[in-house]
Amino acid sequence: MGALRILNDAICDCTACPRLVDYRQMIAREKRKQYRDWTYWGRPVPGFGDPAARLYVLGLAPAAHGGNRTGRVFTGDRSGDWLYEALHRYGFSNQASSIHRDDGLALTDCYIGATVRCAPPDNKPLPDEFERCSRFVEEEVRLLKNHCVVIALGKIAFDHYLKTCKRHGHVMPSPALKFGHGVEYRLPWGVTLLGSYHPSQQNTFTGKLTRPMFHAVFRKAKQSIERH
Ligand code: SF4
Repeated sequence: MGALRILNDAICDCTACPRLVDYRQMIAREKRKQYRDWTYWGRPVPGFGDPAARLYVLGLAPAAHGGNRTGRVFTGDRSGDWLYEALHRYGFSNQASSIHRDDGLALTDCYIGATVRCAPPDNKPLPDEFERCSRFVEEEVRLLKNHCVVIALGKIAFDHYLKTCKRHGHVMPSPALKFGHGVEYRLPWGVTLLGSYHPSQQNTFTGKLTRPMFHAVFRKAKQSIERH
């Protein structure tokens, strides 16, 4: 069994955060009316994609009725619609939508993870939940040996990726790197880190993040991979 598969099995079995275990199970029992015929996943959501990926996309946490329902990252919610459309546009995905775990979606040269693997109330994990879950991103980053470009979806993911690298022994650049939409940093250990606003409805409905803005980040990622 591959190491990423073993990691993903460990993620799916994790019960380390009592508040999040209660919440994800409560959501899975109560369901949203439009999904009443679904059997919700109701567990931590593992990483998804190509183990040989050069592009690593790091999000925040599964959505209560998205990943927590379907069992796959960014699947079954509007953020996922944006993400997979962009990945498909730049050749990282075989389809532009992600509906459920058996919809035939496959990623090429891309792997998707999240800073926290259980859906949190109000999409806001607590500091101790970030800390407990950080071991999964640390291991994922270690196992994705080919990754050379990272897209961090939001400031939390951006800072979390850098913290992970620090824990892996990398010396952080000084002054500290600042998150912003469209920022691009070549890290001293050879990885290119790109920042993007998260494609949450809070950003996409308000126009803070537009499709051209979002796609531009994936175009940069593609170009950066080709230069590496
Ligand atoms: S958030 Fe992470 S550490 Fe906490 S229960 Fe879920 S998988 Fe485990």
